Formats: sequence, structure tokens, C-alpha cells
Amino acid sequence: MGIIEDEIARLMQKCISCGKCTPNCPSNKYGGVDPHEIMIGGETDVSKCILCGTCSQVCRRTDPFTVMRDLKALANDLHVSDTYKNTGLAMPKSEHPSRGELVCEWDGDDVYIMPGCVVQCKVPFLEYAAMTAIKTVGKTCSELEGPGCCLRPPQFREMMNTERHDIIAGMTANAKGKDVITLCGGCTDALREYGEENLNMIDFLYDNIDRLPRFERSFKVAVEPGCSCMPIKKKMIEIVTRLSCEFVNNGMGCCGKDTVLAEQMMADREKECSNGCLIVVACPKCFTKYDAQPDGMPVLFLSELVAWAAGHTETFKYHNIPLEPDNEDFYRPRFDGFIPKESKGMRW
Ligand code: SF4
Ligand code: SF4
Repeated sequence: MGIIEDEIARLMQKCISCGKCTPNCPSNKYGGVDPHEIMIGGETDVSKCILCGTCSQVCRRTDPFTVMRDLKALANDLHVSDTYKNTGLAMPKSEHPSRGELVCEWDGDDVYIMPGCVVQCKVPFLEYAAMTAIKTVGKTCSELEGPGCCLRPPQFREMMNTERHDIIAGMTANAKGKDVITLCGGCTDALREYGEENLNMIDFLYDNIDRLPRFERSFKVAVEPGCSCMPIKKKMIEIVTRLSCEFVNNGMGCCGKDTVLAEQMMADREKECSNGCLIVVACPKCFTKYDAQPDGMPVLFLSELVAWAAGHTETFKYHNIPLEPDNEDFYRPRFDGFIPKESKGMRW
């Protein structure tokens, strides 16, 4: 057996068949995978696994998420791509107008931003928003040097664990002991997997909650932390409340990423959020999904909301779904009074 098969067998052997992962799996709620069945060897099709990581958040015995990643790597014959070898990123950088128009001004090293692949390649203006939010609470920042990818995607499973660890440790060493701020919950978890402490942007803003600005006019927001940040959703809610926004107590869940389940999942997420004026997210992948939703609600990344409260709206023009706070219609929720009977999102 190879490295991947050995790892799968080792992790499956540790499963005690408690069944706790399956009812928490967002894919399973939509007719997708059954992680418990997969972990006991009864099912092998992982094509509908979203790789959200929720199963490992709830499992106390083993690591089903890693098994799913490994099975995906095998099923799709995934290997470390030439893109990574040439750029240090898991995907190619798209042309994006914000790249030349919004240039980050690094002013010090209180903290280092690790933007992650989705931000760098798809929505680079979110790094600018992160920089602005950090400066808003009175801290200086720089971008973390290094390859850039957290090595969480399945293509990296063929690497030895020690090889992945050395790459991640080499990257975080560039922070010289200062805090690393991750903008993607997947990066947050991936670094911690290798013992490298870091703060998700939610954690950082929460630690600086007394320094946050406030909006002069309150408005209703729905909050979607994304799967990786679901365990710290209360911090996110406290942050938006501190900014003077009104949290609408919406159901929360998974965007479905790029699986066949995503269309229905996104339709449910939009419905659950519809008593807000906008949706605030904390995951770059979620951001790209919500901002591409046909007839979708306006969406902001959490650091964009903080930057806006301090008067910075430079990133708004790069959104597909316009955000028009000068229009009085913005302050009217899409569907005031909607209360979902039961969220098909997460059971948190
Ligand atoms: S993977 Fe973990 S949560 Fe799922 S059935 Fe096995 S022990 Fe239980
Ligand atoms: S990674 Fe997510 S979608 Fe895949 S099995 Fe685990 S909980 Fe389900």
C-alpha cells in the first residue's frame, strides 16, 4: 500500500462506529455522503463530500475529514499540481482588476496576514479589506512571506506528513513569533493541524472588539461563518453586534462549495438569511458562492464590514451583487419576518 492507503486504513481502524459524524454532515442532509458508512468501509463514493471538515470537528476518536480528502485524492488521481510547483498556490491566479487598483500598504509587523489561495487567486480585494480592518483597530500588518498555500486540498495528500509540516513551519517562521492572521477557516485549521498557532480573522477582531468602530445607522445582517468557523460563530455575532448591526438570528450552514449539492444548499442559505439586509461571511469560498448567486442578497466579508464601519468602501465595486447603502431600499430586509422552521445547515 502507498502513503495514502496506509493513512486511510490507520484512521478507519480508530473509528468506533458511534455514528455521530453523519447527522452533522451537511452533505448527508442533502442526500450526499454518509461519513459513518465510509469510515466503516461500507461506502466508497466520496464525490458528494464537500470537504467541509465538520465530521472531524464532531469526531472525538479519529479524523474522517482526512479520510475523505485521501479518498478524493485517490478517486480523482490527484497529485501536486504544476501550478503549486511554479507559484506556491493551489490554483492559478485569475485576472482581477483590483490587483492593480487596490495595492496593500504594509506598515509594520504587529501581525502577518496569510491570505490563502482563494483570496489571492479569486478575490484579492479581500486581502485589502483585511489590511484595512487590522489598521482600523490600531495594529500594523504585513503579508506573510512563503509559498502561500496551506496544503489542505486533496492534491497534497501524496506528500509525506513531515514534508507538509516542514513547508508550513517554514512559512509561519516568517512571522518571527508575531501573530499570523488567516482569512480562510480552512487555512486556520490546516496550520493548527501542524501545530502552528494562528488567529482566524474572527478571532483577531474579537480580541480587539473594544477597538471596533460603530455604524451611525443600524441595519439587519445575517451571519454565515462557513463550516470551518462554525465553532466560533458566537464571536462573529458579537463582532457584528458591536459594530451596531442587528443580527437576525438566521439559520447557518454550508455553501456546498463546487459539488452538485451546492445549488440547493445555496438556495436554502439565501432563504435562511432573507430577513437581513445583507449576508456577512467569514470564508472566502463562501464569499465567491454568495456573490455569484443569481438574484442573491448582497454579501460582505467580515473584514469589509469592519472597514465600512470606519468609512472604507473601496472594495465594494468589485462585488458582483451591488451593495447600495445610499439607496433606502437597502435597509429593507429581503423578506422581513422569515423564520426557518428547521435549518438544514449545521446542528450547532
Ligand atoms: S468517524 Fe468518528 S464520529 Fe464518525 S462514526 Fe467513526 S468515531 Fe464516530
Ligand atoms: S468533510 Fe463535510 S461533507 Fe465530507 S463527510 Fe465530512 S462532514 Fe460530510
